[in-house]
Amino acid sequence: MRVLVASSEIVPFAKTGGLADVTGALAKALRRLGVEADCILPLYRAVDRARFPMTPAGPPVRVPLGHREETGTIEETDAGDGVRAFLVRNDRYFDREYYYGTKDGDYVDNCERFTFFCRAVMEWLVRTGRRYDILHCNDWQTALIPAYARTLYSREEAIRPVGTVFTIHNLGYQGLFWNHDLPLTGLGWELFTPQGVEFYGKLNLMKAGLVFADILSTVSPTYSREIQTPEYGHGLEGVLYERRADLYGIINGIDYDEWNPSTDPYIAAPYSLEDLSGKKACRADLLSEFGWRGPVEEAVIGVIGRLTAQKGFDLIEEIGEWLAGQPARVAFLGAGERKYEESIALLGRKYPDRISVRLAYDNRLAHKIEAGADIYLMPSRYEPCGLNQIYSLKYGTVPIVRRTGGLADTVVDADEDPAGGTGFKFSGYEASELSDVVARALAAYTDRPRWEGIVRRGMEKDFSWEPSAREYVALYERALRKRGR
Ligand code: ADP
Repeated sequence: MRVLVASSEIVPFAKTGGLADVTGALAKALRRLGVEADCILPLYRAVDRARFPMTPAGPPVRVPLGHREETGTIEETDAGDGVRAFLVRNDRYFDREYYYGTKDGDYVDNCERFTFFCRAVMEWLVRTGRRYDILHCNDWQTALIPAYARTLYSREEAIRPVGTVFTIHNLGYQGLFWNHDLPLTGLGWELFTPQGVEFYGKLNLMKAGLVFADILSTVSPTYSREIQTPEYGHGLEGVLYERRADLYGIINGIDYDEWNPSTDPYIAAPYSLEDLSGKKACRADLLSEFGWRGPVEEAVIGVIGRLTAQKGFDLIEEIGEWLAGQPARVAFLGAGERKYEESIALLGRKYPDRISVRLAYDNRLAHKIEAGADIYLMPSRYEPCGLNQIYSLKYGTVPIVRRTGGLADTVVDADEDPAGGTGFKFSGYEASELSDVVARALAAYTDRPRWEGIVRRGMEKDFSWEPSAREYVALYERALRKRGR
């Protein structure tokens, strides 16, 4: 089976969040199962061309955009582990400092940029005669591909038999644009209806994927159910409910080549379930990274994440003063929306001996936090899957999570299930519930034998990619059956 994984970010080329981790690791895991998986993404300025030398994969592609035409090239390189990567090059669109926008907002031509990307992929497939059985598209930036496959390109020999799978990594980002952008996409106005790509008068690119893909999936079973409800559906719950027979939830795997305390090059000392002693050195290293001296008895709580409303930072802010009075230190790493950066930085300035903040995107430090902290805090408002809580389990860092999406599916509460607990969970999105669960975790931390049991059970969990990749293969087979293959 030949599969092309399309995404706006893919490790090791470009990453802002979990989407990149997942698409990169999935392609590798599929290869290990014998699936011929390639991947395709835009060629951004940040892609390391010294490390990944590019060669043209065919002649330039001409891409219709409304009444105009733009030219691009598809460059090919080796992503490692047998995966071929293709990168869509158009410097006007992608040779920019950021992928999607600056701190002040999205790039104003994002509809045009990602329409170009999707249509360049289609043109390339058609013109080069390159054959795939499955196009696996991810999030709104690639959502036009399934729509193109069943509309503008449906008669093409290279496209007609191809199954399409569309995976939702985050329904909070839908690619909403004003209706005047519709002609850019080449789709007809007959699709600008509630059953098509119209959404309260706007163009919704995510809907193109939800409506046209043969099979839909999202990144945890709980999130696949939640998004069919008004609370989590971001206005698309009706569309998702309609398509529930084709909607699946597959939990993300973890790339244990990247996230493994026994081989992690970023951490102070290696450790494992068999020999946990290295974690002490990692803890000391983390404390000094965050500017704390001397022995620290209290629990060290790590927090890493994009600073957006999704991640529950407003709740952390609300309990900030209470938290500063607890036997705990908080090591905070995040970058994102200015209002959260300011409020979290303020907490750090107010309680420097309790809360230490790094406003940055720093992968090395993220690894050090996972290894050095005792507790990892992730109180998300919603969470399609979440990766950091799963990394935390592997690193023996006990997660505190809100009972939503993938957080609900991957962590077992240690008070509810004393023999099987791996972390702590709370339900309502309320500051009081968050402080209660943190208090429960801190109480457990003082009971060393109990704590060690929770740590060990978490480390024993296995979220490697293979089972999830097998589930994706089953989805690809379903998609092919829908195409009569
Ligand atoms: P999301 O994709 O919603 O951001 P996930 O938990 O699925 O959330 O994935 C987040 C990924 O991005 C993890 O690999 C995490 O370590 C990384 N990450 C997020 N923020 C930062 C940061 N400030 N510095 C380093 N890595 C970060």
